[in-house]
Amino acid sequence: MEVLTASELERHPVVIAAFAAAWADSFPDDAKLRHEEGGWIYQNRATGEIQIRRAQPGIFDGIVLSYPAAIADCHVVATYHTHPNPTAGGWIPDPSPDDIYNADITGVPWFIISDSGIYVVGPDRRVGGLTGPARYPLIGDNP
Ligand SMILES: [Zn+2]
Repeated sequence: MEVLTASELERHPVVIAAFAAAWADSFPDDAKLRHEEGGWIYQNRATGEIQIRRAQPGIFDGIVLSYPAAIADCHVVATYHTHPNPTAGGWIPDPSPDDIYNADITGVPWFIISDSGIYVVGPDRRVGGLTGPARYPLIGDNP
C-alpha cells in the first residue's frame, strides 16, 4: 500500500470535507471568535482508507498538533490547520516558520488553509511510507 502524496490528499473527498469543516469552525469572519482549527490525516495501511481526527481548537494564531490520536492500523500521513486571520487585515496567510520547521521534523506534509488558498510544506508524502511509528515517522510514538 503506497502512501498518498500531498497533492493526492488535497484532492481526496474526505480531506476536502475536513478542510472545509475546519475553515468554517475557525470563524474567519468573526474577529472575536476567530481561531485556528486543524487535525491529522490518517491512511489505513491495509485498506488505504483516509480518516481524519480533529485536534482541540487552537487560539487566534496557533494550534497544538503535537499529539495525534492513535487509530488502529492507521498511520498519520499529514496534518492540517487553518490560518483564519484576514490577509486584507495585514495578516500573513502563508505557512509560518514554525509550520515549516514542524513539517520537516515530523516527516509528513503540513497543510495550511487560509483565505489566500491552501498551502503545503514539508515532504511530498509521509517519510518512509506506511511503516514505522504510527504517528510522526521522524519523531516516533513516544517522543
Ligand atoms: Zn500555522
